[in-house]
Amino acid sequence: MASEVSYCLSWRVAVEANNARGWRIVPSQCVRYVENYMLGGQYSSDVDAVVDQMASYLEGVAVEDGEKDAWILDVDDTCLSNLPYYRERHFGGEPFDSASYKNWVMRGVCPAIPAVLGIYEKLIERRFHVFLVTGRDEELLGACTAENLAAQGFVGHQKLIMRSRAHRGHGAVPFKSAIRRQLVAEGYRIRGNVGDQWSDLLGDCVGDRTFKIPNPMYFVP
Ligand SMILES: [Mg+2]
Repeated sequence: MASEVSYCLSWRVAVEANNARGWRIVPSQCVRYVENYMLGGQYSSDVDAVVDQMASYLEGVAVEDGEKDAWILDVDDTCLSNLPYYRERHFGGEPFDSASYKNWVMRGVCPAIPAVLGIYEKLIERRFHVFLVTGRDEELLGACTAENLAAQGFVGHQKLIMRSRAHRGHGAVPFKSAIRRQLVAEGYRIRGNVGDQWSDLLGDCVGDRTFKIPNPMYFVP
């Protein structure tokens, strides 16, 4: 048992450090470990620690009047939690099922991740231009996503940018890179970039600082 916990902790660290890539499901011997991690308090504590780092970085970042200082936040498992969905699916111990996932997302009931909502409110208050950038399909999931975000308190951002037809089938890195390049071309300086996947944080124009929210339940290439 002790060695299993040790193995699963090592696996999770490898996931967070982007050493483990391309994995499709949580290893079966680690499903219980991930459940304990997500529900037992460590996940929340780890998210709080990331948000604390964002807050201390923010203290040193001044917003100039008329400057286009931007922050980018991912949506799924960064602003909004899919934990209620994944707890019904062995915390990532089952292969991804796009149909049931779409049904879940269309209900528009993903809860906010409280610490991230807190720092989001600070960003809005500080007058940063906040962009929410998500690989969710715009045509299919645009309305439910916008409503879900607003209902959970994510209001006042500059824009919700979703995957349009032109980006269908593209991986997250090229898609999100293209969006960031566009923002930079429009004169925005990306002061911070936040996501639960490394594919949110790698590629072009990643920003002055990146912040990785933990997620041991799934991997998005
Ligand atoms: Mg995400």
